[in-house]
Amino acid sequence: MQFDVVVIGGGLAGLSCAVRLAELGKRCAVVSSGQSALYFSSGSLDLLAQLPDGTPVASPAAALPALAQQAAQHPYSLIGATQVARLATEAEQLLQRCGLQMQGSSEQNHLRVTPLGTSRATWLSPQAIPVLPLAGKLPWQNIAVLGIEGFLDFQPQMAASSLAEEQGITAAVEFLHLPVLDRLRNNPSEFRAVNIARVLDLPEHLAALAEEVKRQAGEAEAIFLPACLGLESDEPLMALRQAVGKPVFLLPTLPPSVLGMRLHQALRQRLQQLGGVFMPGDTVLRARFDGQRITGLYTRNHTDIPLRAQQVVLASGSFFSNGLVADFTGVREPVFGLDVFSKTERADWCQPDLFAAQPYLQFGVQTDTQLRALKQGEAIANLYAVGAVVGGYDPLQQGCGAGVSLIGALHVAQQIAAQEVSV
Ligand SMILES: Cc1cc2nc3c(=O)[nH]c(=O)nc-3n(C[C@H](O)[C@H](O)[C@H](O)COP(=O)(O)OP(=O)(O)OC[C@H]3O[C@@H](n4cnc5c(N)ncnc54)[C@H](O)[C@@H]3O)c2cc1C
Repeated sequence: MQFDVVVIGGGLAGLSCAVRLAELGKRCAVVSSGQSALYFSSGSLDLLAQLPDGTPVASPAAALPALAQQAAQHPYSLIGATQVARLATEAEQLLQRCGLQMQGSSEQNHLRVTPLGTSRATWLSPQAIPVLPLAGKLPWQNIAVLGIEGFLDFQPQMAASSLAEEQGITAAVEFLHLPVLDRLRNNPSEFRAVNIARVLDLPEHLAALAEEVKRQAGEAEAIFLPACLGLESDEPLMALRQAVGKPVFLLPTLPPSVLGMRLHQALRQRLQQLGGVFMPGDTVLRARFDGQRITGLYTRNHTDIPLRAQQVVLASGSFFSNGLVADFTGVREPVFGLDVFSKTERADWCQPDLFAAQPYLQFGVQTDTQLRALKQGEAIANLYAVGAVVGGYDPLQQGCGAGVSLIGALHVAQQIAAQEVSV
């Protein structure tokens, strides 16, 4: 099978790269083994929340020169501040073209309310999530945090107690009793956010849901629910807001994440509408090379029939997705054996303090400024690496995971499009 570009990995990085390439007229295939980090994410996208030295970032675009001074290997530093700022705006537009309405901008971070009721700086949040300005307060004095009877993946008491403490407001806790969920509730392993959303999204259940939300929320000015609504779109939430007549927001739950899955679905649909091919459940195992060029990719399902492409993008994620593997001999990238940032001594991989920045989070593939992957110090001519598989940054401490994925993806799409034109 012949494509212009084969992307390995169907997470945020791989899908957004493939979408952009398909928009630019390239015939793309995405091969993806399993679920991506999006299925486990908050649904908010981080660009840059903190510098490596711990300085909080208000404006990601303005902080890029300081980041370059502190972290020369950070993908943003390799790409360059001007290009990163430009691509951040392009990423916002790409998400809009996928039908995703997000709040926020790269000019100014905002705070999102977390499932624990605390607030965390981020770049873009779904419309469903309650947000507030940096150092600001929520605009309500009296809110209701409503759980769902028997649903264990969201604890309203924890959220309400932190909201009351951090925001200095009244936050009441109640539970929704919804008979329509009884069948799911009887099987705890099925009583998960996604399955609940499949039921509550049905228009015929709106009236009962709205009645119960109104009853439990009482006099509260605003209502926070677990994100068990709106698997396909914001419409069920908008309809609920209208029926309840008050602001209703969603807080992320334990995985699977409805808000993250929405992002995945929207990107995947856009890719397929543009003619891209998505191959779920397949794994790229190894490559055939001619000198410094990849000439074929062998996958588990296609066995000895190689996928062939002019360009290959590696977006296989970090340890979490098996894009990187750690064993007793060290850390490696399993498909191509690329050069990785890591530390030789295992004792140096982690900090004993669980809440300290963990060195292993910076491990990952080494690239040049075009994000071409390096092997034995040389760039592979037609292999780029994007997203969490790339090293040199800490997505957690620096709050930059989604941004590195999206911006790297767009940077690479641009490199590939430019190369093809100049051939
Ligand atoms: C649990 C978790 C939660 C997170 N939450 C957030 C958040 O809320 N906000 C935020 O900004 N960032 C978050 N991040 C950071 C996250 O890493 C990035 O935001 C981003 O989603 C990473 O995308 P990715 O496409 O690079 O990798 P992934 O999402 O990990 O996707 C990689 C994909 O590649 C596939 N794959 C791996 N190897 C192969 C192979 N050989 N062949 C074919 N397919 C392969 C995997 O199955 C997977 O589907 C989170 C990270 C984790 C681990």
